[in-house]
Amino acid sequence: MCGVLGILGKMDLPMARELLLLLAHRGQDAAGLLWESENIFTESKATGSPAFIELPNDSPSIILGSTRYPTIGKRVANEEELDIFVGPFQSENVALTHNGNITNMACQTEREYFTDAQFLTDKLAQYLKENDNQLQDAIGKLSSEVDGAFSIVGIHDSKLFAFRDARGFKPLVFGRSKDLTIIASESTVHAMAGLTIERDVYPGELLVFSKNGKLESFSISQNALHSHCFFEYVYFAHPASTIENQLVYDVRFRLGRALAHAFKKMNKEPPDYVVPVPDTSRPAAQALAETLGVPMREIILKNRYLGRTFIVRTQKERNAMAKRKYLYLTDKIENKTILVVDDSIVRGTTAKMIVHDLKELGASKVYFAATCPPQDHPCYYGIDISTGKELIASNSRREDIRKYIGADALIYQNMSDLVNAIGLKDLCLACLDGEYPTEHARFIQEQIQDDVESDGRDYERVV
Ligand code: 5GP
Ligand code: MG
Repeated sequence: MCGVLGILGKMDLPMARELLLLLAHRGQDAAGLLWESENIFTESKATGSPAFIELPNDSPSIILGSTRYPTIGKRVANEEELDIFVGPFQSENVALTHNGNITNMACQTEREYFTDAQFLTDKLAQYLKENDNQLQDAIGKLSSEVDGAFSIVGIHDSKLFAFRDARGFKPLVFGRSKDLTIIASESTVHAMAGLTIERDVYPGELLVFSKNGKLESFSISQNALHSHCFFEYVYFAHPASTIENQLVYDVRFRLGRALAHAFKKMNKEPPDYVVPVPDTSRPAAQALAETLGVPMREIILKNRYLGRTFIVRTQKERNAMAKRKYLYLTDKIENKTILVVDDSIVRGTTAKMIVHDLKELGASKVYFAATCPPQDHPCYYGIDISTGKELIASNSRREDIRKYIGADALIYQNMSDLVNAIGLKDLCLACLDGEYPTEHARFIQEQIQDDVESDGRDYERVV
């Protein structure tokens, strides 16, 4: 996951930075802005939030923005590393940034790249040179070589372009007015800029926006089936975003309603409260509470300014971060039966800690529900769950997971309820069912079966 932004039309740089803040939840590691003035690219990057990007007082008419979530390489440790890790990137007469993950970069280049976005930029510059500076030919060549997920926004010949892989894994939407075009990972950016979204960029489509208002669309690579990442709806996207015509809030609400039916079937004693793990699972908790006819209470509160708990890479760091992440309304817990809802259980760190804390604070029973089915396969397309062995559901049976987290009941979403709640047939569910939609990802899976012991992300070590 990462956030991408492209703006065509005069805009103050601080305003662009404000729009990029709406994508901060998609990548809290670092952020960057790049703009073109008189055929020169200038960029400014910062660790952490886009709010820290320093900008001159300028109003360029073409701007790219990026928020980073590392699925390749490590977290950005200091200012010196910003250039090699954080997009947007530039090479020759092209600049771009992307959201997703290239699975076969290691077999496409001898050079050591710290990020796949820099690799895509260099490759595109090379193919432009080899193809008479024709963007559609260069993109065609690029997309025939790379495997994986990529929603790209870029600048070429003072035009803004967008390209989405043929499966449409990651979201990308655009909207226009007479003077302004915005392409972004999420429609909340358009809403803030006063634009309505025109539509999602189609999977396999290249869109080129010129300064005179012209829009060209090229069909570059098509696939009969699309594979939209279901986890966007479950976790990544902002609830106010609309992706593939589905409002994320509504999907999460429906996920909660489905969980209520699953809970009812278990014939357990009803809870006194439904309690969301903030923030993602709030709409689901509301629906769950309403459907069960019990109150929802926000007795778990987030230490909002801590951030970045998931992208630490060791379990020890994760435990320490999780401990500092939540505060409890301690006097509302004693002798209560509490149904806690989180969006997902990945490694089990959050669930185990919350159940333990609630019991220590006197809860008589704690049930734990996840709006997502068990994630028991790694993701190669942009979630940093990139090896099977780190996933609790890939190593343990459901009853063992329940015991591990210490809950009195464990309720996972059913696969069919998940798909119905999202309302799309064409989804990537690979981390749930192991069905990888692209060839190189399947190849990695085959290789990795004999190689369970080694460290590092699967796609960083299989060539
Ligand atoms: P666990 O603690 O089981 O390893 O992970 C589950 C928790 O991590 C949930 O609270 C969920 O909201 C959060 N989570 C799931 N996926 C991601 C991710 O890709 N990034 C971040 N920051 N959090 C995630
Ligand atoms: Mg969470």
